[in-house]
Amino acid sequence: MSGADAIGAARRPDRASDFIRDIVHADLEAGRHKTVVTRFPPEPNGYLHIGHAKSICLNFGVAEAFGGCCNLRFDDTNPAKEEHEYIDAIERDVRWLGFDWGERAYFASDYFGQLYEWALHLIRAGDAYVDDLSAEAIREYRGTLTEPGRNSPYRDRPAAESLDLFQRMRAGEFAEGARVLRAKIDMSSGNINLRDPVLYRIRYARHPRTGDDWCIYPTYDFAHGQSDAIEHVTHSLCTLEFEDHRPLYDWLIEHLPVPSRPRQYEFARLSLSHTVLSKRRLVQLVREGHVRGWDDPRMPTLAGLRRRGLPPAAIRDFIGRVGVARSDNRVEVALLEHCVRELLNRTAARRMAVLRPLKVVITNYPDGRTETFEAINNPEDPSAGTRSVSFGRELYIERDDFMEDPPKKFFRLAPGREVRLRYAYLITCREVIKDAAGEVIELRCTYDPASRGGDAPDGRKVKATLHWVSAAAALPAEVRLYEHLFTRPDPGAEGDFLADLNPRSLEVLSDCRVEPALAEAVVGEALQFERQGYFCLDPDASAGGLVFNRTVSLRDSWAKIQQKGATS
Ligand code: ATP
Ligand code: MG
Repeated sequence: MSGADAIGAARRPDRASDFIRDIVHADLEAGRHKTVVTRFPPEPNGYLHIGHAKSICLNFGVAEAFGGCCNLRFDDTNPAKEEHEYIDAIERDVRWLGFDWGERAYFASDYFGQLYEWALHLIRAGDAYVDDLSAEAIREYRGTLTEPGRNSPYRDRPAAESLDLFQRMRAGEFAEGARVLRAKIDMSSGNINLRDPVLYRIRYARHPRTGDDWCIYPTYDFAHGQSDAIEHVTHSLCTLEFEDHRPLYDWLIEHLPVPSRPRQYEFARLSLSHTVLSKRRLVQLVREGHVRGWDDPRMPTLAGLRRRGLPPAAIRDFIGRVGVARSDNRVEVALLEHCVRELLNRTAARRMAVLRPLKVVITNYPDGRTETFEAINNPEDPSAGTRSVSFGRELYIERDDFMEDPPKKFFRLAPGREVRLRYAYLITCREVIKDAAGEVIELRCTYDPASRGGDAPDGRKVKATLHWVSAAAALPAEVRLYEHLFTRPDPGAEGDFLADLNPRSLEVLSDCRVEPALAEAVVGEALQFERQGYFCLDPDASAGGLVFNRTVSLRDSWAKIQQKGATS
């Protein structure tokens, strides 16, 4: 392996080193485990987002690095919010990100029978009881961070009575909220999670997988660790907010005849600037129509990022660079964009597209004549070959590439000035045509026939090279430009996060002209529109019309952020 390859490999998440991998390594070395089993446990109540990608890359990456396996486990214990649509989307997105769970797709709901048996076990052992207090009363009795809780008056009811009541809860004899099952731990514990946490609730809701079989459902805390144990998960990796739940996780494992003893480890969530990653907020954006759906290219969901044109390898690279640690911090979204540019620069085919067309007529170019030029598909990758682009008397250039009265540092086209049309000729602007309102609608230019290919035989220099398309050959297209969905780096930090929505996050350009080769673009293929950025075909495109999304512009704000850091 060359030095550069080694650095590249070390950057891949599966070669990364972090405190979790250190723990797993030490456990295997000491013989505490023969193999490593992890799991990625999404709740099927929303689409996966880039925060989940961190957990996916970690769980699958650790398993892969140590020759173990990783389960996909749906944590489907809350029937009210779950839908099949989400299960399908989650599977599609994990696969797209590049991970394979093989046969190992599991559902917490498959364990409802076993979990119920274990609940009975706790009751018989005097470690759980049925409580008749209302949810509100339970909250009141729980105490606060500074005050201990109080015992429920039902806490010491005989085990036989709790057993009977719990069985009747399961049989559907009581109303929702009338009773719950609680673990009997310690109402004065400094850790609120140990103050007799609720293990089961009554819910008359149809479950997407178990239908009406159950009207009592286990809580996250009761389902999670036990599901891990059933699956022989060795290292249960979760985010830091579960750290305070770990003593309860361990308590349940110790008090139940589970088939294995998983251990929980916590790492910091990913949080990204200019982005929200809370599922509650993402659901709200979709439901209230602030975006066009879960896969809106402005969404941080994997479905949105895919539609936006981010390659999964760039997301994995980004997650690898962010690393895994125990301290919370917000990562600049510019770093993600930087990873995308770095990859697409190597892989994306170059094309010419004019987003805001301005017509150019080459007055000394023979009417009716056309010719073609060889254009390089990817200067970074000679194997990508070339294509031909057609040239004629009428062209379009970018409106922004012309100024009638240019300021000092504007080197592009202006009256009397000569510029290069990429791959083609040098042209000089001779006349500016305006409409009645005074708006420039056309430029009359002349070309230098001796400059074919873009260079003048006399060696005279021009300062600008413009992209262009032939008016006769170009295809019309819609192009959607995206900016951050939020104006603040920390949406919602000062009030309602919706107030921080960026009103200019989507700009639709409906009158673009693109070179004919783009008729062959397919969804999922990355393209660079020269001088503009990276783009991809949107699934909305049809035989009748091309629609492109801008993935990222060429401007690398991450490089700037880093320069600033280096010089300040
Ligand atoms: P939210 O808090 O946004 O509703 P969640 O944590 O409830 O998300 P789950 O479906 O339960 O969503 O998440 C599945 C797994 O992904 C969990 O192990 C969770 O810790 C992890 N995860 C969720 N968000 C992030 C994040 N931002 N960074 C890293 N891991 C995350
Ligand atoms: Mg969760």
